[in-house]
Amino acid sequence: QTVDGTTGGADDSAVDLELDRAHSARMYDYYLGGHTNFPADREAAGRAMALFPSVLVAARANREFMHRATRFLATIGMRQFLDVGTGIPTSPNLHEVAQDVAPESRVVYADNDPIVLAHAQALLRSHPAGRTAYVQADATDPAALLAAPEVKETLDLGEPVALSLNALLHFVPGEHRAHEIVEYFKDALPSGSTLAISHVTPDFDPEGIARLTEAYRASGTPGQARTREEFTRFFSGWELFEPGITTSHRWRPDPGQAFGNVTDAEAACYAAVARKP
Ligand code: SAH
Repeated sequence: QTVDGTTGGADDSAVDLELDRAHSARMYDYYLGGHTNFPADREAAGRAMALFPSVLVAARANREFMHRATRFLATIGMRQFLDVGTGIPTSPNLHEVAQDVAPESRVVYADNDPIVLAHAQALLRSHPAGRTAYVQADATDPAALLAAPEVKETLDLGEPVALSLNALLHFVPGEHRAHEIVEYFKDALPSGSTLAISHVTPDFDPEGIARLTEAYRASGTPGQARTREEFTRFFSGWELFEPGITTSHRWRPDPGQAFGNVTDAEAACYAAVARKP
């Protein structure tokens, strides 16, 4: 199956969506109640849900962390956003949240999954006062990502950038690789830039997360959950905003938010936001 890449504006060639195998972006879309998923994705998502039923709660709590973190960052004055590992558009997307606070916000989205490219049009509906762009890029090559014309044309990398790596780095397995990638981005951005990360952790339910990780691996997506210590190291040298490192649903919850019954084991992700001194 192919899709015309011109819908995303980033590539004119036909794109292989690999509908015969599950993709993490489409499984996540399924957890969130979206419709951009296919039988192989639903089968794999069903297996993950059987082995770790709260993956649905975890996905929602993660998405809502992105909303609150973005709103917070726009409120404290951030106007440039770089969102790597964007996922399939699910309104409100990051630019909608940021531009709701500051319409002039400029947002670049990046993902390596062609399904996101195919649906990128929804990410490009910017408020006229601001600007959005989508770049098909791999987080494991941050130099190429930052050098992409869409990045250069939309963001001024000499000014502070709010970088978000939400629910992305647990798809970058390996002892050091994910940390090297984050350090590259951190070095490349100027003082005043911010970093928001959410990430699956085994700390609260090691056996459940081991089953979840195995379900993803079996469906063709290797991943790695990380401990609090490993998560904390992503922010080394930067200043964490209150409340520091928490699980996703506990990071600056909105007053009255219905998370009273969610446990850390169910949310399953650490989340934090920090600023470069
Ligand atoms: N950030 C969104 C979506 C998370 S789903 C949110 O938190 O709501 C994870 C996304 O990361 C998927 O869309 C997947 O395609 C993307 N992804 C995984 N590995 C990637 C890589 N190496 N480079 C770019 N994107 C990647």
